[in-house]
Amino acid sequence: MKVAAMDYVAARSPDEVLAVLADGQASVLAGGQSLVLEVTSRAAQPRRLVDINRVAEFEVLDQTDGMLRVAPLVRHRVFESDAIDGPLGDLLRVIVRHIGHPPIRARGTMLGSLAYAHPAAEWPVAAAVLGAELDLAGPDGRRTLTAEQFFTGPFTTARRPEELLVEVRLPALPAGTGAGYAEHRRSHAKFVEGAAIVAVTVADGLVTGAAIGLVNVGPCPVRARAAEAALIGGPFCDAAIIEAARVAAEIDADNRAMTATRRGAIRMLTRRALTQAREGV
Ligand SMILES: Cc1cc2nc3c(=O)[nH]c(=O)nc-3n(C[C@H](O)[C@H](O)[C@H](O)COP(=O)(O)OP(=O)(O)OC[C@H]3O[C@@H](n4cnc5c(N)ncnc54)[C@H](O)[C@@H]3O)c2cc1C
Repeated sequence: MKVAAMDYVAARSPDEVLAVLADGQASVLAGGQSLVLEVTSRAAQPRRLVDINRVAEFEVLDQTDGMLRVAPLVRHRVFESDAIDGPLGDLLRVIVRHIGHPPIRARGTMLGSLAYAHPAAEWPVAAAVLGAELDLAGPDGRRTLTAEQFFTGPFTTARRPEELLVEVRLPALPAGTGAGYAEHRRSHAKFVEGAAIVAVTVADGLVTGAAIGLVNVGPCPVRARAAEAALIGGPFCDAAIIEAARVAAEIDADNRAMTATRRGAIRMLTRRALTQAREGV
């Protein structure tokens, strides 16, 4: 199939990107690891592509004052390095190495993944687990959304067509936090069937913070809030992990049937991720 005719603009500044997006007829080309497949299959037929790869300001990754700031051209592979310290860096490193193959991680971007909002993608759930703030820039200025506000459905977000996702902020995780990731995936060329992303903070032997995110369990990123509540205030022991995984599997997040097999998978993945997190506390 031939690609439909479209204009191509290689923008050189944030203002130029916003000017091209202004009529709502353009798509942003970041890493191209999802968009190129969409346009070559004609699933997406934008009138214009605005390539942001020459905008130097968009390559910035900044970690100051307990906040990690991620700009639109920070590639997945950056999160594989030791560039980000503390428990937050540990969690991002654990997640990123499961995203596609090395060439996909070399081109694809975190913000592109968030904007694409694939229900089986890891970064949207990580954003929900970490309490991310997402900044959108458009003709009316800048606005900030939480992950819960940003993701509205599969491949659907609150981003308006004339807006650019310009920054994502991830707060540092407190000392004493262990992170875990467990997934079921048929092949590295495919997205996960399901995964659990967790961050658990322990102080004086008791759980003071817990975030449990489930990938590909609902149309939007899912937090297993009841399972988190089950962990808070108690010791981070085997029995607590088993109980939290049981509660997580009771989640009702999807309008597709939650079969016994799916619930069993959620339970097993949550248990594995929590066990991994406990080793890192
Ligand atoms: C074989 C294969 C396996 C993969 N496996 C996984 C996987 O296991 N897990 C996973 O999470 N992903 C996976 N991916 C997808 C990959 O992570 C992509 O990189 C990601 O989905 C999109 O990032 P990108 O930078 O390539 O965005 P692009 O493809 O350039 O853009 C994707 C969409 O987001 C929009 N967009 C991009 N950046 C912005 C922005 N800053 N503001 C507004 N809109 C924007 C684009 O217009 C487009 O609609 C896989 C891809 C392939 C080809």
